[in-house]
Amino acid sequence: MVKRSYNKTPMAEQDPLVRSTNFKEVALGYTLAEGRLEASRCLQCKNAPCIQACPVMIDIPGFIKAVNENDLNLAYQVINRYSNLPAICGRVCPQEKQCEMVCRLGQSKKFEPVAIGKLERLVADWALDQPTEPLTIPQDKGRVAVIGSGPSGLTVAGDLAKSGYQVTIFEALHQAGGVLSYGIPEFRLPKATVAKEIQKIIDLGVTIETNVVVGKTITMTEIMTDFDACYVAVGAGTPHFMGIPGSALKGVAASSEFLTRINLMHSYEFPQYDTPVKKGRHVVVIGGGNVAMDAARSAKRLGAERVTVVYRRSLAELPAREEEYHHSVEEGIEYSWLTNPTAYLGDEEGQLTGVKCVKMQLGEPDVSGRRRPEPIPGSEFVIPADEAIEAIGQGANKVLFETYPELALSDRGYVEVNEDSCRTSVPGIFAGGDIVTGAATVILAMGAGKMAAKEIAEYITAKKQTNQPV
Ligand SMILES: Cc1cc2nc3c(=O)[nH]c(=O)nc-3n(C[C@H](O)[C@H](O)[C@H](O)COP(=O)(O)OP(=O)(O)OC[C@H]3O[C@@H](n4cnc5c(N)ncnc54)[C@H](O)[C@@H]3O)c2cc1C
Ligand code: SF4
Repeated sequence: MVKRSYNKTPMAEQDPLVRSTNFKEVALGYTLAEGRLEASRCLQCKNAPCIQACPVMIDIPGFIKAVNENDLNLAYQVINRYSNLPAICGRVCPQEKQCEMVCRLGQSKKFEPVAIGKLERLVADWALDQPTEPLTIPQDKGRVAVIGSGPSGLTVAGDLAKSGYQVTIFEALHQAGGVLSYGIPEFRLPKATVAKEIQKIIDLGVTIETNVVVGKTITMTEIMTDFDACYVAVGAGTPHFMGIPGSALKGVAASSEFLTRINLMHSYEFPQYDTPVKKGRHVVVIGGGNVAMDAARSAKRLGAERVTVVYRRSLAELPAREEEYHHSVEEGIEYSWLTNPTAYLGDEEGQLTGVKCVKMQLGEPDVSGRRRPEPIPGSEFVIPADEAIEAIGQGANKVLFETYPELALSDRGYVEVNEDSCRTSVPGIFAGGDIVTGAATVILAMGAGKMAAKEIAEYITAKKQTNQPV
């Protein structure tokens, strides 16, 4: 009988003291031997619950079996049937809330679940290093425009190209990838990995046109004339603001701008690159999601002496990935739980000097089911700071809709779709990812892309048969 180790096979990481001074990747990946050891822990369950918990339903036991048998090529073929972006998902998916949460091995108190994400990364990284030829798939079934090159747009494009559709992605920024390129930092998701996964999609025959803002550079009406169907995946990157007194002080920033400067513009390498970024000494980051963790850990890497994350709930409610929180603590990030900022304080030159906060307590659950934080009267205090970064959520990217009111939107500005088909109020226009759900996850955005690809193919087939929009 196989003797399974109770714990996941550990993955080598950069030492916290070293990594908090550089932007290189923290987790270094499994060796093949480590991967096979971890794969041997899988029980190969019948009706595997991990598959059901994966939004794109990867045959997890199937690929893990291939790793165990030392066949990474087969393991990659299995994964690639379901996902076009496995090196990304292996790194950033919240596995602990999905496949690993339901893993049967982990249901026993003694055992940790199989490290599914780390195994996915091993296989995907191996595949990215193999020489490949661009595929020559005849793309004569129809023309599809995709707006936005984040994980949702890339997924729909890859799946449609594989099925014989000619796809053009229009991207507003100068680099493809959406949040994968401009939001998630290098130390969690190397840009070279993102670029290689995107290249695999281009190799399927997909065209990506960057620096095209749909709604400004070209209109939706032009797109609907030139293409048989369109998928809108413009994401939710418009920052929300606290709107508290002192927000205009020098040193108060939105996480989206802070992270975009670092990721897309290489501001941590200024002046070799053109764009500077503020390097605070004592930085306060407001929020508790992945974006807040990324901003805090980036500020530390830029040289901050102290970085404090201020979160209005407690650790138990923290929405960030568990791994990111643990990494941040190892790197010396401090936390002020049950705390909410009420004002930014500044000096006579308009420079931020501190963040005035109030302590909170958790009251009755709100509509989201989470206990509502309520201020404790008289508990105000000040955290000295020369930089404050707000990471309290993002809303819809709206440019496209300003010039195309035909698309029905929800009260919050997201595109309304039929959840089972990604169809919008306009025939031939489909939508998915964060612009439908609000800020969510990479894998959910990809799941929508997969569903939309099937629906778009059906739509075009029916349209060609009847010669009418359906
Ligand atoms: C800092 C940060 C960290 C995150 N960490 C994680 C994580 O660890 N794990 C996880 O699962 N999720 C994480 N997320 C969330 C995840 O990245 C998103 O849910 C996901 O990227 C959504 O994908 P999308 O394709 O819908 O949109 P996006 O990735 O936002 O891509 C949308 C693209 O559309 C383009 N666009 C917008 N308007 C137009 C227009 N008019 N014309 C042309 N192009 C346009 C944008 O420039 C962008 O490139 C994180 C998000 C952020 C911001
Ligand atoms: S649930 Fe866990 S043990 Fe079972 S097949 Fe999936 S990964 Fe393997």
